Amino acid sequence: MIPHVDRRPVIEGLRALADLLDSNPRIPAPRGVFAVRCVYRSTDEEAAAEIDRIAGELGTETALENSSYHTQIHLGPVRFKASAMLLTPSTLQPTRYRCDDCAGTGLDGLAQTCDTCDGTGFC
Ligand SMILES: [Zn+2]
Repeated sequence: MIPHVDRRPVIEGLRALADLLDSNPRIPAPRGVFAVRCVYRSTDEEAAAEIDRIAGELGTETALENSSYHTQIHLGPVRFKASAMLLTPSTLQPTRYRCDDCAGTGLDGLAQTCDTCDGTGFC
């Protein structure tokens, strides 16, 4: 069974955080926000197809890192990643590889956009 996530509370929480930080500059802002959606499916093929579909919606590339097949988008220091753990990852070929300079975070040591991957986390 595919777990259902009610997106409305997540959207409202993100907006509430933005409003809170915007209205009270004495609260230190985080260096970034990292949101993850884990994808669960019955088979690797179904999981990979869902990651491919999400990548199509985001306009992003997919990547295979060990057994994690994923896609992600960087919105400045805010990152959203959809990921599926595959049982037999050798059946897929990655389209991109994790950036070694920023370890796939898209940010350098000063929380600035990584110059090597231009903030995508992939090369
Ligand atoms: Zn990088």
